[in-house]
Amino acid sequence: MDEVPLRQEWIHRAACADADPELFFPVGTTGPAERDQEEAKRVCERCPVAHQCLAYALGSGQTSGVWGGKDEGELAALRRKRRAAERWEARRAG
Ligand code: SF4
Repeated sequence: MDEVPLRQEWIHRAACADADPELFFPVGTTGPAERDQEEAKRVCERCPVAHQCLAYALGSGQTSGVWGGKDEGELAALRRKRRAAERWEARRAG
């Protein structure tokens, strides 16, 4: 597994520093929550540390909110893919 980037090394460059935190952690997945989530993703699109943010979220097991431009479902899918790749690598090496 890749090394988890230390949050304090990149968070000060985050595009969401002045954004409403509720955009990134909306309650629910429909209606206003869905709009908030999409707005959060638009902030992430212009974030210079999106790669580090996503790596941090995956490596530290974040399961809620928008991180690195990915919502909860997308983060879960990436984790499943990563675990499958790790299992495949382990079988190949063993
Ligand atoms: S990628 Fe998105 S959530 Fe992560 S630091 Fe940047 S703006 Fe914030």
